[in-house]
Amino acid sequence: MPAANDIHIRPSGKTRRDFDPPNIYYRFEDGLVMRAITAFVWCSDCQDVTKGEVLEVLEELDALIDRYSRMLQQSRLPELRLRDLLSQTIQKRRWIQDRVSAPKCLQCGSTVIQVIPLFKEVEVEGNAILICSSVIWSGDWGERRYLSPEGDWLKPDPSEDDNESQAKKWWQFWR
Ligand SMILES: [Zn+2]
Repeated sequence: MPAANDIHIRPSGKTRRDFDPPNIYYRFEDGLVMRAITAFVWCSDCQDVTKGEVLEVLEELDALIDRYSRMLQQSRLPELRLRDLLSQTIQKRRWIQDRVSAPKCLQCGSTVIQVIPLFKEVEVEGNAILICSSVIWSGDWGERRYLSPEGDWLKPDPSEDDNESQAKKWWQFWR
């Protein structure tokens, strides 16, 4: 279940609750889909707290690749699952290494962003920001949304339309 987060921004004193579930994936040209990691960020262009991309650190991925490779040699987990994990991590590492753009604000695409940790007041550009994860929101995760490998929003994939909207399209086409 997604969490709801309370965002407090001073000096304006504004508090708002964020219900936006992080149901965001990257879609690669070969059809591979990978869940995106997002965080609250301060975006200098939006002048607001928004959601931003988080790209994993290459050294951490290297350590994971090492660990999975060693475990595979010792066969501690069912081999198939482990091979999957290993190849996904290698793909992820290759993508992050080749990526041109720095992490982006998911609202405006700016790369002038700074991650705001939860439960810790942070001072940014004259604002004091505190974000608390408060209640668990019992709503669903909503529709998946997709980013390009460079962090730009993609249009929904027409092949994922349900039958009803496909039927509607055909109907409009023939009218
Ligand atoms: Zn922005």
